[in-house]
Amino acid sequence: MATKLPAAQARLYHNIFVCKHCKTKIRAEPRKILEGKIKCRKCGKRVFRPIKKR
Ligand SMILES: [Zn+2]
Repeated sequence: MATKLPAAQARLYHNIFVCKHCKTKIRAEPRKILEGKIKCRKCGKRVFRPIKKR
């Protein structure tokens, strides 16, 4: 990628989590992820990890 603007990075990765089960990306507040309030829209699991930053 040619552009690595901080603003673009933030937009792409801020508050994004990946479902550990089906790899679906979900945007949510980290607090809500920790509280288990976010459910994967695809498989319904509640296990997420933060997206990988590069
Ligand atoms: Zn899932």
